[in-house]
Amino acid sequence: MLIVMKADATERDIAEVERVITELGFRPHSVPGPSRTAICVTGNQGPVDITPFENLRGVAEAIRVTKPFKLVSVDLRPEKTVVKVGDAQIGGEELAIIAGPCAVENREQVFAVAETVRRSGARFFRGGAFKPRTSPYAFQGLGEDGLKILAEVREATGLKIVTEALDESGVDLVERYADVIQIGARNMQNFSLLRRAGRSRLPVLLKRGLSAMLDEWLLAAEYVMSEGNYNVVLCERGVRTFAQHTRNTLDLAAIPAVRRISHLPVVIDPSHGTGHNYMVMPLARAGVAAGADGLIIEVHDHPERALSDGAQALTLEQYEHLVSEVRAIHDVIAPAPVG
Ligand code: PEP
Ligand code: MN
Repeated sequence: MLIVMKADATERDIAEVERVITELGFRPHSVPGPSRTAICVTGNQGPVDITPFENLRGVAEAIRVTKPFKLVSVDLRPEKTVVKVGDAQIGGEELAIIAGPCAVENREQVFAVAETVRRSGARFFRGGAFKPRTSPYAFQGLGEDGLKILAEVREATGLKIVTEALDESGVDLVERYADVIQIGARNMQNFSLLRRAGRSRLPVLLKRGLSAMLDEWLLAAEYVMSEGNYNVVLCERGVRTFAQHTRNTLDLAAIPAVRRISHLPVVIDPSHGTGHNYMVMPLARAGVAAGADGLIIEVHDHPERALSDGAQALTLEQYEHLVSEVRAIHDVIAPAPVG
């Protein structure tokens, strides 16, 4: 159920609605907007009786939600969400750029890439300390030592750190050293991990699962949000299809499709979405042209020596060129009309 408050509803009116929801054994999620506050009810298995709410002071209407989406939905929040990360943000007017190596390999590599990323004007640095590798014998990441290097990058450059947590204990560590928790494609339906991230104070970058439908991806975001963390960024990183010319098929139609349902920002990952260096630039351009709020790009100072995902890594020069092009494209894209 969704309770829409009147524009002149007071904080006391809102608190009273929240109290009644809690008393019924459910959880209230108040989402203030520029024109009104909406309160979403979660924790109910079946339909909630709307009558106790209809006559409470300040309530404009109580709506029964029949769709599976509640907290991600534009019904709850018609305005787009801007996820704030300190003084940076994703979903605002500026195109968010998250760039860095696939994996943290050593301090020299990370700092070489970070310096270029900082100079490009990007606000976010990516790099995995815990790598979800297909083979148990492949490089698994430096673990906490890798996070320490990322924290040094943050200190030295002011870049916000986006890094993956593979499990719940990984979230504890990421919280200590980084700014945004990445949940990887392989973990998109790891529900205990999603719930743990939902109890974090850090925003979550939620990658689409390798074979996830839109509904499944958005419901994964609901898991995070239902625990009280509303700062979720969706990341389209390609899904598995019969195509053999790419590592994954980057689904750019997901951008307008998500927009129709959800207020959450969407970023595009053309690196994992294609798997090939030469395809990253054209798909990054296309993602921005299709209305993405940002890009996440893998960059390496020596791609041929990369310990993971070298084939899709951009060189420092290619990355700089990409940033200047996608910024120019973003400048000519007007904010998309709702609908
Ligand atoms: C990554 O960002 O390096 C990564 C492993 O991504 P994904 O979960 O999309 O495969
Ligand atoms: Mn990677």
